[in-house]
Amino acid sequence: MSFQNSVFIPGPTNIPDSVRKACDMPTLDHRSPAFARLFKPAVEGVRRVLKMADGEVILIPATGTGGWEAAVTNTLSPGDTVLAARFGMFSHRWIDLCQRHGLNVQIIETPWGQGAPLATIEAALKADKTGSIKAVLATHNETATGVKSDIGGIRRAMDAAGHGAMLFVDGVSSIGSMPFEFTGWGVDIAVAGSQKGFMLPAGLAILGVSPKAIAAMETATLPRTFFDFNDMLASYAKGGFPYTPPVGLIAGLAHAIDLLESEGLENVYARHHRLAEGVRRAITAWGMTPYAASPELYSDTVTAVKVPAGCDGTALVQLAASKYGVAFGVGLGEVAGKVFRIGHLGMLTEVMVLSGLATAEMCMADLGWGVTLGSGVAAAQDYYRGTVPAMAMAAE
Ligand SMILES: *Cc1c(COP(=O)(O)O)cnc(C)c1O
Repeated sequence: MSFQNSVFIPGPTNIPDSVRKACDMPTLDHRSPAFARLFKPAVEGVRRVLKMADGEVILIPATGTGGWEAAVTNTLSPGDTVLAARFGMFSHRWIDLCQRHGLNVQIIETPWGQGAPLATIEAALKADKTGSIKAVLATHNETATGVKSDIGGIRRAMDAAGHGAMLFVDGVSSIGSMPFEFTGWGVDIAVAGSQKGFMLPAGLAILGVSPKAIAAMETATLPRTFFDFNDMLASYAKGGFPYTPPVGLIAGLAHAIDLLESEGLENVYARHHRLAEGVRRAITAWGMTPYAASPELYSDTVTAVKVPAGCDGTALVQLAASKYGVAFGVGLGEVAGKVFRIGHLGMLTEVMVLSGLATAEMCMADLGWGVTLGSGVAAAQDYYRGTVPAMAMAAE
């Protein structure tokens, strides 16, 4: 027999059976009307999930990292300045990608566990009298630390500074799981990936691009071919793709969005909040705290749990995998060993999360961390008993 537990990593996430089936497609001529019929609902669905009133949706056979690269190469030129706060491994990696493309990154070093510092961003933009900053990069949900940043607040800071930079948002671990307002927040490019909130296998970078970012392409000279939005949009207009599209993933995306919308996006967000809150109750009962510095920063998709002094978060993750067949996330970079991460996004129910918490407790007991078996589970159970709605998940 082969057994498969749910994963509790912050992506890739568990794939609903019906999404796996939707991805299982016979070969289809991507230049035929059949492809256009399949493609359109996926693009329109992304538009609704991102809450885009205008602009373009772009789907690229890539991952989130490819989405970052597409965002900058389509809109910027070598030597351009971008402003970015660094407060975790993912915000760091986007900065690194920009630097490798010859961009000048004005970095706001921010302690890990904090989010994007609005006042500092506003001050940096105000100080930029010549308008040299072309884009502000923001990581909506820093997956390494479990920190959510206030994207609407960044837009207000940009407006308060009267600065015309574009706003690029990494929403890879938030979009589809936490509220996102592309137009409401004045986002110019949003980047998501198929394997997190969209509950698909990895392989699609999913982008929303504003009219302002589209206009920036006219003068942007960074080299791009595979990621060129112009090629994409010219082909999309004819119902096609500039190269061979991953047909199965695109079919799966349309179906995954159907699932999110049949549950109701607001209900999806409420479920993620409830799952996350139960996890937070559990870690409080264990005498631990989230790595995120304060409650308004707590992510509803991933919690980085600060482990007690003398304990090794990576040892817990390794034991969970080797003994119980359960995946948690290790601490990355500066927080390696100091945290372990519980991903609570995608296809998960309260009952599934309880199994993850119970597994973490077994590992803690095995490792002699002095945690009472059942303590965190009981705290989460108490919270879920009082908050879970009847028929929490839409039947597939
Ligand atoms: C997962 C993730 C990415 C991108 O990862 P890929 O492996 O390239 O899909 C980028 N940013 C954040 C915040 C992420 O969580």
